[in-house]
Amino acid sequence: MKVLKFGGTSVGSAKNINKVIDILTNYSKSDSIICVVSAVGGITDKLLNVADLALNKDDIYKNDFEAIKQKHFDIIRELIPSKNEKVLNAVNDKLNELNSLLDGIYLINELSPKTSDKLVSFGELLSSYIISETMKSRGLNTERKNSQELVVTDSNFTKSEVDYTLTNKNIKDYFNKANQRITILPGFISKSKLGEITTLGRGGSDFTAAIVAAALKVDQLEIWTDVSGMFTTNPKMVKQAIPIKQLSYQEAMELSHFGAKVLYPPTVQPVLSLKIPIHIKNTLKPNDVGTIISDESNGEFATAKGISNISNIALLTLQGNGMVGIPGFSKRLFETLSQEKINIILITQASSEHSICFGIDAKDAELAKSSIDSAFENEISLNKIDPLIVEIDLSIIALVGDNMKSHQGISGKMFSSLGRNNINIRAIAQGASEKNISAVIAEKDVKKALNTLHERFFEGNIKQLNVFITGVGNVGEKLIEQIKLQQDYLKENLKINLRIIGLSNSRKMVFGEHGLDLTDWKEQLEKGEKATLQGFLNAANEINLRNSIFVDVTANHDVSNLYAEYLKSSIAVVACNKIACSSDYENYKRLKRLSLKYNAPFLFETNVGAGLPVIDTLNNLIASGDKVTSIQAVLSGSLNFVFNNFDDTNKFHDVVKQAQKEGYTEPDPRIDLSGVDVARKILILARESAKEMNLEDIKNDSFLTKANLNSDTVDDFYQTLIDDEEHFQSLFASAKSKNCQLKYVAEFDNGNAKVGLKEIPEGHPFYNLEGKDNIVMFYTQRYPDQPMIIKGAGAGADVTASGIFADIIRAENE
Ligand code: ADP
Ligand code: ASP
Ligand code: MG
Repeated sequence: MKVLKFGGTSVGSAKNINKVIDILTNYSKSDSIICVVSAVGGITDKLLNVADLALNKDDIYKNDFEAIKQKHFDIIRELIPSKNEKVLNAVNDKLNELNSLLDGIYLINELSPKTSDKLVSFGELLSSYIISETMKSRGLNTERKNSQELVVTDSNFTKSEVDYTLTNKNIKDYFNKANQRITILPGFISKSKLGEITTLGRGGSDFTAAIVAAALKVDQLEIWTDVSGMFTTNPKMVKQAIPIKQLSYQEAMELSHFGAKVLYPPTVQPVLSLKIPIHIKNTLKPNDVGTIISDESNGEFATAKGISNISNIALLTLQGNGMVGIPGFSKRLFETLSQEKINIILITQASSEHSICFGIDAKDAELAKSSIDSAFENEISLNKIDPLIVEIDLSIIALVGDNMKSHQGISGKMFSSLGRNNINIRAIAQGASEKNISAVIAEKDVKKALNTLHERFFEGNIKQLNVFITGVGNVGEKLIEQIKLQQDYLKENLKINLRIIGLSNSRKMVFGEHGLDLTDWKEQLEKGEKATLQGFLNAANEINLRNSIFVDVTANHDVSNLYAEYLKSSIAVVACNKIACSSDYENYKRLKRLSLKYNAPFLFETNVGAGLPVIDTLNNLIASGDKVTSIQAVLSGSLNFVFNNFDDTNKFHDVVKQAQKEGYTEPDPRIDLSGVDVARKILILARESAKEMNLEDIKNDSFLTKANLNSDTVDDFYQTLIDDEEHFQSLFASAKSKNCQLKYVAEFDNGNAKVGLKEIPEGHPFYNLEGKDNIVMFYTQRYPDQPMIIKGAGAGADVTASGIFADIIRAENE
């Protein structure tokens, strides 16, 4: 004999019921079958809802009742297309009874737990009747037995306790005599010893099946549902969750008790001592292997097996100096809660005994507060303890596994991953059995926490990086293309799942919580919502993904003003924009501090030398204990281009124009030619070398004329270049006469920094610097004579994009 249970979705439509009937038909060829069914999917909720409407005298309840009726009629007509009058009439009679009950609730304005149980019992009574009649109509040897005549309980309505002696006897007596091949039983519903209708608690059909399986000592209990087993975590919250092949009873109990709804927690209890295995299967994918819950654990994961979560938790804290060292406080506290039938889900107590903290269902919070405050009225009035503190909008997440106890460092791993992602932990509990570590966190962080922990414990070290890019001009576009090309490689070789979640230009922004499809990102962005900087930040916060990275590919001041906000949300910042790092020293320092405090990298390698590893090298030198004594550098790709191309055969104006056309200069070429851009870069290098310095401290001997410097607009500036051609030719002639090359050089020496045009003699490392190349020479205590030199292309969209890309990958490693 076999016991199978089919849940709400499995019997939620005629199509699915046909799948159930196929499975039963198949099984019944070799054995007799007991099939426990839930109400048609969603009906229990709808019944409670409609009753609530009636209770509140909302006439809409009549429409909702009609919808419930229609749903059942539709299913019957589809399952039994002809000769269905008998079934339709019987169901109609039952629904009339339900209607009268609802009218009663409407009239007397009362809905007791007793009436509520009576009301929801209609769901399973109807579904079991319809299914058994369908099977009979198809010639299958089927009977329905009303399980209310078998399962006997106390009168604790909505979640009653089973009387196993009477129940087991009823079940055995009935099935000893029954001779049909297939028996359909409604799950969830029962009767008290006094004959009142009771239920076993929400999700209780699983339990009914376990009770029957245990009473008859069958070989196996099968729970058929809408997912392929018990997953490593709720598959609706974590896309990467996978079914767990094997679980011990304890593990399954812990996971279900802490929210894995796929199995109603009391289900394990009746089958546990008889060692009847539970097999969880998917009605919609019957060939999937599912999960076996048995006496054995040895699953495929050595330590943690799964993660669960419970929403709507209230955390209550009883504290006060008067509690210390005095026994009996906890006893009184828990007695009070037990008298009010309030279930405690988690408890923590500090060893000072100064406070006890416990988690309960938020719906019980008000009752808990009033009953505890009145139980401790006396102590509260004497200021020995404080009135009970209630916090809401919380959730519990629990990491579960039998083998966790024999492995060190699991809780460290759990809490460090949560901390890194800015998930604040309100309370922690670890059972003495060490099969479960639970934490109370804010409801809004649950999805992120589950994903973070799942990644850490179950995803073979594949790490997700979630990128938000602002600025999709030249460089931004290249960056997206590079990411697109590199995604597969990163996954395979570096175990990084790099996804772009948000994109924005100055007009539009677009988001994709599961990663934007990069094949047509431009169209998606065009169709996006209106962009605002604050809106982009808010979205990154609301989507609330772990390992989030904000990438600034603009040269915009307002964008850089928001870095602090990103860092405070533990979102890493990667900036190609130089403004923040060359702004006021205090601001730069503050961003560095926030980065440390919130564990969020702040990286800006491309601020100096585009993709060249200048800042990274400098940071490594300093981290390893070296000290920078001097930096000599050519840091402007555009100025280098200009002076490499300018001579007595062409015009300075034309060369500058060409540099701009080729995209080497900033949009306003004066920023490059005036030396401001180079000054910003050497400032950043000086700061990264631990020197407190501001832009004003950098000496800037400009080679431009007063007219150039005082020009109002870019066009005016170009005109002054034409006017002052003679000046530029004389600079060239002077260098040429000494056999020198003109280079725009930045220096940091003895704590002082300066920028300016220099005549570089032959033989100097700068002399042969070509095209738009940059060069940086670090003289340090370890490199006193021969400097460490970094040289290569220092401008251009492609190399800048790859520098940003490298920072994104670096942000992961930090
Ligand atoms: P049924 O109606 O078949 O009893 P339930 O809705 O009660 O089905 O339970 C199945 C649901 O449990 C799944 O659809 C899933 O959303 C949820 N669930 C939560 N945690 C888990 C988990 N760890 N593994 C599988 N399902 C889970
Ligand atoms: N129908 C009941 C509920 O929704 C019992 C069950 O489906 O297990 O809670
Ligand atoms: Mg269920």
